[in-house]
Amino acid sequence: RSTVNNLRPFWMPFTANRQFKAAPRILVSAEGMYYTTDDGRQVLDAAAGLWCVNAGHSRKPIVEAVQKQVAKLDYAPAFQMGHPGAFELASRLAQLAPADLNSVFFCNSGSEAVDTALKIAIAYHRARGDGTRTRIIGRERGYHGVGFGGISVGGIVTNRKWFGSLLTGVDHLPHTHDIAKNAFSKGQPEHGANLADELERIVTLHDASNIAAVIVEPMAGSTGVLIPPKGYLEKIRAICDKHGILLIFDEVITGFGRLGSAFAAEKFGVIPDMMTTAKGITNGVIPMAAVFARDGIYDTFMNGPDNAIELFHGYTYSGHPIACAAGLATLDVYRDEGLFQRAADLAPYFEAALHSLKGVKHVIDIRNLGLVGGIELEPRAGKPTARAFETFLKAYEAGLMIRTTGDIIALSPPLIIEKSEIDRIVETLAKILPTVE
Ligand code: PMP
Repeated sequence: RSTVNNLRPFWMPFTANRQFKAAPRILVSAEGMYYTTDDGRQVLDAAAGLWCVNAGHSRKPIVEAVQKQVAKLDYAPAFQMGHPGAFELASRLAQLAPADLNSVFFCNSGSEAVDTALKIAIAYHRARGDGTRTRIIGRERGYHGVGFGGISVGGIVTNRKWFGSLLTGVDHLPHTHDIAKNAFSKGQPEHGANLADELERIVTLHDASNIAAVIVEPMAGSTGVLIPPKGYLEKIRAICDKHGILLIFDEVITGFGRLGSAFAAEKFGVIPDMMTTAKGITNGVIPMAAVFARDGIYDTFMNGPDNAIELFHGYTYSGHPIACAAGLATLDVYRDEGLFQRAADLAPYFEAALHSLKGVKHVIDIRNLGLVGGIELEPRAGKPTARAFETFLKAYEAGLMIRTTGDIIALSPPLIIEKSEIDRIVETLAKILPTVE
């Protein structure tokens, strides 16, 4: 086994680092649905990396496009300059996006995309003479990355508690499992509108004239696969419309086919004013993210009324040529292989397979949408998360890569998965869970 363990690489995220020290798990190559480990084992990737490798690993057309691009134009400045790939990718993305979300701003991570969208929202109102509209409303259990913007609007208290006052003027809609568990897991209509009513209360409390935007993941992914109840997103949209508040969907996980459509906005039939995306945009091959905005919003952000505002925003690597090449090749693969539709077609099979785990030891809830699944385990007394982590370790030993978040197993396989591989995921979990303490 590798000795990387001894090096204590500081780049590992905090929690992963603790786990890493306990048990090094080194991946050396990947292809299609499988990783190969440093001891030569094949591991079925039921998590699409970190929700990003939607077309499967090391896809040839994407690899070749990256190789070709790096040999041709390795870099082009993002400011005052452009390159053909950036324009082509932006227009392909705009075609894919619903309604008039036609303006695309390139970033390099979901966290940057969230910061960018929050800035656009505030600047948009300011440019229209609505300078008091600076408050943002997020949601409990929302995850929007680890930048200061993302942890402020995100609903995971432990992610922000060490960092003092962050973005000021943030409120969080209730989304706790205790309140919303049944509603969010089963999509019950009667709860959806009620949960959204809290938004109306917050708007009244602060006065709409102080509120810039609401940001939500249409389906919360990394905090446990929380599926919105029917009517919930629609009601949020209606309240935002009524009060002139922008609605941002964080589609970093749900974008690019995960739910069986290009974006969750389509799936739920609710169109936001902005969307943040990342991950599947380049199939995880290279960092890239994009904010989509309705045309009027983006133009106002960039120019203000009569080009009156002077604003700078952008990143050294915005629209990086290699990322754009990867993005274009990724979109080709999605289109040529019909992967979004494939996810939709496989969803019922995936659902039936997951729900066959009902009654298996420790399992207390099963949720799914498109090719995302959440299997919630009863927490071990006095040691929450230990049970899920033990399941993760045992699954890995058995050749299966899953993600866990709290005591929830999150499954989000690449959209190229075969039915036999879905069976294998479920069979492996059914075998392992009863052996977990
Ligand atoms: N938003 C959502 C909904 C996410 O799931 C994530 C990452 N899991 C992010 C934002 C942050 O993305 P990144 O890690 O690329 O900064």
